[in-house]
Amino acid sequence: MHPTSKTYDVCIVGSGAGGGMAAYALTKAGADVVVLEAGQPWDNTKDSAMLEWPYESPRRGASTPERPFGEFDACIGGWEIPGEPYTRAPGTEFSWWRARMVGGRTNHWGRISLRFGPYDFRRKSRDGLGDDWPIVYEDVAPYYDEVDRLIGVFGSKETLPNEPNGLFLPPPRPRCHELLVKQAADTLHVTCIPARLSILTRPLNGRAACHYCGQCNRGCRVNANFTSTNVLIAPALATGKLTLVTNAMVREVTIDRTGRATGVTYVDKATGADVGVRARVVVLAASACESARLLLNSKSTLFPNGLANSSGVVGRYITDTTGTDVSGFIPKMMDHVPHNHDGVGGMHLYMPWWLDNAKLGFPRGYHIEVWGGTHLPTYGFLGGIHRYPAGGGYGKQLKEDYRRYYGASIGFSGRGEMIPNDDSYCELDPAAVDRWGIPVLRFHWKWSEHELRQVKHMQETFRALIAAMGGEVFAPMPTREQGYGIAAGGTIIHELGGVRMGDDPKSSVVNRWCQAHDCKNLFVADGGPFVSQADKNPTWTILALAMRTCDYITEQMKKGAL
Ligand SMILES: Cc1cc2nc3c(=O)[nH]c(=O)nc-3n(C[C@H](O)[C@H](O)[C@H](O)COP(=O)(O)OP(=O)(O)OC[C@H]3O[C@@H](n4cnc5c(N)ncnc54)[C@H](O)[C@@H]3O)c2cc1C
Ligand code: SF4
Repeated sequence: MHPTSKTYDVCIVGSGAGGGMAAYALTKAGADVVVLEAGQPWDNTKDSAMLEWPYESPRRGASTPERPFGEFDACIGGWEIPGEPYTRAPGTEFSWWRARMVGGRTNHWGRISLRFGPYDFRRKSRDGLGDDWPIVYEDVAPYYDEVDRLIGVFGSKETLPNEPNGLFLPPPRPRCHELLVKQAADTLHVTCIPARLSILTRPLNGRAACHYCGQCNRGCRVNANFTSTNVLIAPALATGKLTLVTNAMVREVTIDRTGRATGVTYVDKATGADVGVRARVVVLAASACESARLLLNSKSTLFPNGLANSSGVVGRYITDTTGTDVSGFIPKMMDHVPHNHDGVGGMHLYMPWWLDNAKLGFPRGYHIEVWGGTHLPTYGFLGGIHRYPAGGGYGKQLKEDYRRYYGASIGFSGRGEMIPNDDSYCELDPAAVDRWGIPVLRFHWKWSEHELRQVKHMQETFRALIAAMGGEVFAPMPTREQGYGIAAGGTIIHELGGVRMGDDPKSSVVNRWCQAHDCKNLFVADGGPFVSQADKNPTWTILALAMRTCDYITEQMKKGAL
């Protein structure tokens, strides 16, 4: 191994949402920081395919092995990464989506930016299931405000009990298909409000406002949407206090004889050499499950079960958002008059949880995401013309059908709260290793009856919404045997937990500051410390908690306590 001579103040593993925020907050506070990122460099302003037409590529935008969401997508990664396997216990359906680039998954994400509400930190107190967080909404609220000011989020001020307002930029107006959705939602008394997305509708902090090209997933050349890469890492680099090392696959956290973290070792992917980095503080932000893997792989005589794992809880209680989709054909959207459909690269509407679980057969709620309308056609658009009445055929008729049906479909996705359970966890596979010989994760997964009932409710609601729009659903209601169409674990790409936060070192890995109970100069700044999932997408909370953790690190370093 080649140790680096320098000792940094802080070594951060990963440069996604959590790692990017940690790098930003700590360098702004004056710390000398190194970020180790397993993926390759990326700069939206130069590398994005934001303005390319599908016809400019012979693939017409179809996916490639390293870009499963399409060749123009910004995010390099996928369900399977060559040389970096993971395994599943027999009977487990779980897929793990990983990014491998600066900025991590924030190069693609949907930018739905929701605060967890007061109830979300106190679920066990409300319904007896799962666990409460050791912190409450008020502990995180000032950091949510700071994230809103720094990154920017649009939305509307509402008076909903568990959907806290942010410091919102004005939301964009609903598009044609969204106006129809709003009508249907009002008819069925489903709460339907403007979406909350981290896309600038006004210039902010030197970044331009969105010009509504609708291509957010390709990366924004003008930085009007949020990526860790250009909104957090770039300004951190500009402080002169950040060293960013790409293609650096961290193997383990190193410790001294007293059990203090001394830094990490990583594999330089270009040469295959092992390199050591020394730091006074280590922050893991490699994504929830990967941070659990790093802890489990950091075995020593002092910590034979892995670092920070005296509780045995590392890897336990992982969750993903529950999800299912329904889409349909809306005849009144056929043969539409060409009109301005400009908008952001995401939905303009949002349907937060609107019902009382005490009156339903399942605990915890879900929100509804909307898609459809006339977006830039690409490979496979319309999802198969044969699904439409009289659709299909050849030549002139086929072209006419495409024109008639283009934009005449709508879809709803449910995104709900899973309750952590004993059967959903990850551990080190006893045999499998990656291309560098590092043991890989084996996943175990089980949905409970709670999630199945919730997803059944989603299916019924989306079908009712499509019926209220005068539409026809494309596929029949999935049966109980088909799990009511529940998406497999991990496939909503909101995996959380595994490095759980708590006040009791016997049942949690990190404390309320995301600091390891067993190793006080070791912190986790991704989704690993989450105690529960909430019916919200997690990234705004990852960002707020990472900022809060870094304030604590800065304060403790100033006191000489780390
Ligand atoms: C298609 C898609 C849509 C999404 N939509 C939304 C949404 O609308 N709203 C929302 O809130 N969330 C959404 N998400 C989830 C969101 O992207 C994640 O919650 C968020 O990016 C997690 O941040 P993170 O820092 O934990 O991990 P990541 O962003 O995944 O970053 C982790 C980084 O660590 C690096 N790394 C991993 N292992 C190592 C190692 N051993 N050594 C060094 N580096 C390592 C990785 O290469 C990666 O760059 C979406 C995700 C996807 C993929
Ligand atoms: S829709 Fe707006 S934020 Fe998204 S890529 Fe286009 S200009 Fe950027």
